[in-house]
Amino acid sequence: MNRRTEETKVVKDALALAGYPSRVKHGTGTAHSWIDVKADAPKPSVCYCQTTVYGTVERCDPCKNAYRDGYKSVLDLVRQVTGRNGEYENIGVDINLI
Ligand SMILES: [Zn+2]
Repeated sequence: MNRRTEETKVVKDALALAGYPSRVKHGTGTAHSWIDVKADAPKPSVCYCQTTVYGTVERCDPCKNAYRDGYKSVLDLVRQVTGRNGEYENIGVDINLI
């Protein structure tokens, strides 16, 4: 198993244990050193997000907070288990509230 495959597995396992099912990918080409993590986090039970007449979604405060908390937890965990940290940590995180 190469280093990147191993890193993917370590990150996915750690996030799953913490309750964040995730998709993990490494970058290619000039983004080779990047690790991209898309994780699911629970959507707040109270949600008043609104779709504007233009079709864009105005995220409500509970969802903004859930996104921010999820983002921080996931990023911290990825840092911990990969040892990536600092200016060149190259970690991309996106949170999907479901
Ligand atoms: Zn909402």
